[in-house]
Amino acid sequence: MIPGDSAPSTLEQDHEALLQFLYMAPVGLAQLSRDGNIVLINPLCAQLLMPLSKQGDLSNLFEVLKPVAPDLAHRARIFAPLHGKVCDAMHIQTHGGTSSHDAQILSLTLLKLDADRLMAVLDDVTQSVKRDRELRHSQSWIHSISSGIFDVSYALMSLDDQGIVQGWNVGIRNLTGFEAEATIGRSYANFYPEGGMLGHRALERLREADQTGWNLEEGWLRRSNGERYWGSCLIAPVETVTAVSGTKCTYSLVIRDISDRRESDEALRRSVWSDHLTGLANRRAFFDAASTAAQRRTRTGEPITIVLFDADHFKAVNDTHGHAAGDAVLRHLAAGLSVTFTPTDVVARFGGEEFVVLLTGNSLAEAKATADRFRSHIAASPVTVDGVQVLCTVSAGVATSTDGACGIDELLRKADIALYAAKAAGRDRVAVWDDALEQQGRASVGGVLP
Ligand code: GH3
Ligand code: MG
Ligand code: MG
Repeated sequence: MIPGDSAPSTLEQDHEALLQFLYMAPVGLAQLSRDGNIVLINPLCAQLLMPLSKQGDLSNLFEVLKPVAPDLAHRARIFAPLHGKVCDAMHIQTHGGTSSHDAQILSLTLLKLDADRLMAVLDDVTQSVKRDRELRHSQSWIHSISSGIFDVSYALMSLDDQGIVQGWNVGIRNLTGFEAEATIGRSYANFYPEGGMLGHRALERLREADQTGWNLEEGWLRRSNGERYWGSCLIAPVETVTAVSGTKCTYSLVIRDISDRRESDEALRRSVWSDHLTGLANRRAFFDAASTAAQRRTRTGEPITIVLFDADHFKAVNDTHGHAAGDAVLRHLAAGLSVTFTPTDVVARFGGEEFVVLLTGNSLAEAKATADRFRSHIAASPVTVDGVQVLCTVSAGVATSTDGACGIDELLRKADIALYAAKAAGRDRVAVWDDALEQQGRASVGGVLP
């Protein structure tokens, strides 16, 4: 109002009040012509639009908003009713570069007042959108936690569409030792040991999560102090932000420490594949390894040799010194076999007081010499049980694939015949299969094979 001599009329007072309201309003307001030309604008509206305007030109709203809302003029033009909402709380992302997190988000409502006049209501909703996003994130996490079996410690975080950590929860520190500063703004690959999650794989997992709804992997992860732990890592797309610039996905990442479960899996694996008394591979593991070796032999032609060992008069050991002493002798034999043969040889407890070794690539002479070295070592090294020295010798039978036998069963049969011959010849010796033994073996009854 321009001060005058006379008292202001009611009309002038109303006008003054309207201007006051426009000026003080906590939202951006602008009155426009039908073509978007700005007739009246309040300071807040000008402030909100300024970052979008070219050289500070705020003469036409449609022009100012063209880069971020190109269809606004068209929408206003085709809006048929005499008055009403052309658009209602439309979200406009005004700046922020690549990350949606530092963008400013405006809410625009465009009202048609009559045939010639429009009113724009603008509000900065960046904070409330962010809060809403965070709320939805936490709701999705709570949902994950309540519907999943997260009974062990876990870390939750949100990722952007490049796998960069955006949100942080205290579980991350508890589980990984990393603080927020070392986490936010860095790729989640950082939680993996060096080389454990390469950049392209980290991104691939996000795309897999897009397609299937989630991506779950187990593997070695690392704590801030460098220590490794076995963890499960779930990635799920949780949110789609529809801004004028397009659709963006963010992700929830849940990391769980499942070292305990891995240990129990490992224990289960051990119980399935190893012998409980000696810790050697068991019969099942032997046949598994042997069939792999046999397959390789068909490709490479390298020889396979089998040595069967059997403790001599073992029943007498049990009878004289007790079952526990017998067990100690078996463990002693197993330990001796482990140090005599190389890690590439398969050493297994075949059952009872019998052991089997599968060697690949060795000549028959080498295999026999190694078997004999073990035999003589055992013959010279008694086990002390409760102060009593217990000596138990071993006999062995050797057979090799260079004799024409290819299958493992055939080799075992031949090694058994040789072992039988070693026993028959007086025990504490190693015999190698040959045709003559084959004839004798056929004539004899039984053998060490079950
Ligand atoms: P040979 O020289 O002819 O092989 O005679 P042996 O007494 O060793 O053979 P035999 O097959 O008559 O006896 C094997 C014994 O091994 C009988 C069985 O009680 C014992 N045995 C089998 N498994 C175990 C075990 O896990 N612990 C103990 N202590 N003894 C076992
Ligand atoms: Mg025996
Ligand atoms: Mg036996």
